[in-house]
Amino acid sequence: MSTRIAFIGLGHMGGPMAANLVGAGYTVTGFDLVPEALAQARAKGIRVADSAADAARGARIVITMLPDGRHLLGAYEDENEGQGDGAGSAAGGGLLAASDAGTLFIDCSTVDVADARAAHDLVVSAGRRGLDAPVSGGVAGAEAGTLTFMVGAEDADFAAATSVLEVMGARIVHCGGPGSGQAAKICNNLILGISMIAVSEAFVLGEKLGLTHQALFNVASAASGQCWALTTNCPVPGPVPTSPANRDYQPGFAGALMAKDLGLALNALDATGVAAELGPVAAGVYRRFADEGGAGLDFSAIINDIRAKSDR
Ligand code: NAD
Repeated sequence: MSTRIAFIGLGHMGGPMAANLVGAGYTVTGFDLVPEALAQARAKGIRVADSAADAARGARIVITMLPDGRHLLGAYEDENEGQGDGAGSAAGGGLLAASDAGTLFIDCSTVDVADARAAHDLVVSAGRRGLDAPVSGGVAGAEAGTLTFMVGAEDADFAAATSVLEVMGARIVHCGGPGSGQAAKICNNLILGISMIAVSEAFVLGEKLGLTHQALFNVASAASGQCWALTTNCPVPGPVPTSPANRDYQPGFAGALMAKDLGLALNALDATGVAAELGPVAAGVYRRFADEGGAGLDFSAIINDIRAKSDR
């Protein structure tokens, strides 16, 4: 009999990830609060449960792909999570209570490092095993099974999770103990968020100075300004035909997600006392961008914001 997996959160990422597990022969029982997500999951061969706790009963592995840490901690603890506001009330039920001792909990959501560590503590105190395994690669990577997983786990738990993660991802990186996967994810996205602003400011400055986009690209992509924000996700149409700028900034990686991830980075910067100057500024830039209409656009559309505010 195949390993039974519970999959909680069947949205843009979770739906295709769970479908890939079904394709690899696992028996997957899923749950989501949104009826359309459940209908799509059913069509992909995922069994649909009546609640998150029902999905977890009898599962060897419980995977979560939820919006943030509030939803994660709520789903772990609160039996009424499925009917509530999504935050849960820590009533002591939920996924942990419904699961068997020794069940492996894999959280793939992007959450605060502190929430990831709190979730791991809950899992261990309940006699279960757990790890954080946030991803990069977006919806396209989730569909193709080519995600990168950044894993925070004890060695034995990492070994136990690897074969399942390999179905959904092409690259599995063990970053350290519990919480380290989330730490790697937000550090990476801090670099990405700041570098996209830098690249965008440089293109707008180049425009003002009479440089063509292609000329700046030809120089910077082969010089010390080279980075992923320039050479893969180039914020102007033309130089990199596959970048979101060539399709009216349809994501890609949405502005709302960059704002969320830099908010998590900001929490971690505050909590650790790092003397960061650019990180907090970048977090504010994307928060405003997302609030003022950029939430559903690729984060590289930040260049339009910079250009619009450059009034001379
Ligand atoms: P999404 O909003 O499409 O999916 C989240 C799903 O969780 C929703 O369908 C929601 O109904 C469901 N949900 C919320 N609370 C629930 C509960 N208690 N029980 C069951 N279901 C519940 O979001 P997404 O784009 O799939 O992203 C999920 C996570 O992955 C986020 O943490 C995000 O930051 C991260 N992520 C997303 C991307 C991306 O490109 N979309 C890339 C990397 C990481």
